[in-house]
Amino acid sequence: MFDLKSITRKNILALKPYTSAREDFKGEADIWLDANESPFQSEVNRYPDPYQQEVKALISPIKGIPRENIFLGNGSDEVIDLLFRAFCEPNRDKALLLPPTYGMYKVSAEINAVALESVPLTADFQIDIPKIKPLLRDKCLKLIFICSPNNPSGNLIKREAIREIVENFHGIVVVDEAYIDFASEGSMLGEIRNIPNLLIIQTFSKAWGMAGIRLGMAFGSQEILDILNKIKPPYNINTLSQNLAIEKLKQIEQKNREVAKILEQRKKLNDQLQTLNQVVKVWPSNTNFLLVQFTDPKKVYKKLSAIGTIVRDRSHEVADCLRITIGTVEENQRLINQLKAIENEESTLYR
Ligand SMILES: *Cc1c(COP(=O)(O)O)cnc(C)c1O
Repeated sequence: MFDLKSITRKNILALKPYTSAREDFKGEADIWLDANESPFQSEVNRYPDPYQQEVKALISPIKGIPRENIFLGNGSDEVIDLLFRAFCEPNRDKALLLPPTYGMYKVSAEINAVALESVPLTADFQIDIPKIKPLLRDKCLKLIFICSPNNPSGNLIKREAIREIVENFHGIVVVDEAYIDFASEGSMLGEIRNIPNLLIIQTFSKAWGMAGIRLGMAFGSQEILDILNKIKPPYNINTLSQNLAIEKLKQIEQKNREVAKILEQRKKLNDQLQTLNQVVKVWPSNTNFLLVQFTDPKKVYKKLSAIGTIVRDRSHEVADCLRITIGTVEENQRLINQLKAIENEESTLYR
């Protein structure tokens, strides 16, 4: 059912990509006079590896995915943008979103003049399969974005539902696993081998603690990744980001310890929030944040920000909810103290 060529934009299929100096010649050499770089050595005087082979070689055993099935983007946001540019003809093709979900899919679609279909998640934030099924036959529908664990609801999407969509769709299903390291259930990475129209995206911005280096990962068939590689800016991941990622990947223990701490804090914060009168509900979380329903979220948001604590107001997406990232032990404790003070209308005491 899935035929990549038939869903790829014609101009992209026909494109002859830019070839960088480093691709033209691949062997060993001492004198590099091919790229108009400065000859004066520093960490950054040479152009970076356009395919980030060293970074991918370290990611590969961690994820159990061969190098050729890994693509790196300047943040997941670049991967999302490249997908629209590769597969969606502006002002003709469409993508499907399942709100409430990550805001960047919509922004990226709008930048690329791609129309959106939208099928809200059910009351327990799962996929509404009967509503989606009829849309899957639309030849102009090219991409479906499924965020699991979902931002901002924090839950995992049921795997059988994702499989059902993938199997009945001629386009690409993107499963965004930005928060997968915080989840109780494993990733769908193992399935990319068997499912040609599944693309999984992950990121260094959350569990890896490296939002500042802008590094996103995509895992999928070599066929799909060839197209992304063809259209990406040649040097999309800069040398400094590659070097920092390499260092970090060699210290996976540190990441694992930090994730464990966040999970412990998530449980504690959850328990403490449940005791507050102004908290209606804390949604179960498989992420590094909690979605919390308040009796008066606007008031809580305003009072917290007035004393220098910023949370995310999601009340326009999920009624009466604020999204709270898990911080350090101290930050979480201060947040709880501040919320208690707000309950007692003494917020100014807790700066
Ligand atoms: C934070 C987040 C990302 C990360 O995006 P980057 O561009 O890699 O920083 C991706 N998807 C979701 C759902 C997120 O919440």
